[in-house]
Amino acid sequence: MRLILLGPPGAGKGTQAQRLVEKHGIPQLSTGDMLRAAVAAQTEVGKRAKAVMDAGELVSDEIVNAIVAERFDQPDAAKGFILDGYPRTLAQADAVEVMLRDRGVGLDAVVELVVDDKALVGRILKRAEEAKAAGQPVRKDDNAEVFDERLREYYKKTAPLIGYYHAKGKLVGVDGMASIDEVTQAIDQVLARIANTV
Ligand code: AMP
Repeated sequence: MRLILLGPPGAGKGTQAQRLVEKHGIPQLSTGDMLRAAVAAQTEVGKRAKAVMDAGELVSDEIVNAIVAERFDQPDAAKGFILDGYPRTLAQADAVEVMLRDRGVGLDAVVELVVDDKALVGRILKRAEEAKAAGQPVRKDDNAEVFDERLREYYKKTAPLIGYYHAKGKLVGVDGMASIDEVTQAIDQVLARIANTV
């Protein structure tokens, strides 16, 4: 199964991706996680990405496409994957199409988590509080100021992907305001429907 989870920051993509990993045994490919790992390891990519990420802006398509292309070729991604936070621009969506075509595979679906903007900043702040309480590192971009920029970037650069995938007949909307379990159930139903129509 090859799936894209689409939605603004705080929509629940990471949470749902983890559940899909457990259920389907395929990896979650989160470009945000990969970039944060590169920043922590102080690689060349990490050094180039750090300030951009801290400001809530998008890292260049060139950098992100390259790390995803490399990740696609690791053995655990052969049976499928869940893309979380990628693609985020039309240029990335075009790139992913070429990457998949080159590997002779296709996308099963793009699940859009449809959420109310007003709830998002609260979710992000809660995530930061929970991380802090658990003694885990708090993401530098999980605060109200940077969040505004992340949301602006989403509407400017990522939201056009909704139309892009709709036109390809791949888009499925799921109510991301429901409880975590209900969202998981709705995604399961989408996947079951797809499996039955193939
Ligand atoms: P995330 O963990 O998905 O919220 O991503 C955190 C940050 O990493 C984003 O605000 C961007 O700066 C960067 N990032 C993650 N994925 C991408 C992507 N596909 N394209 C560009 N920048 C990204």
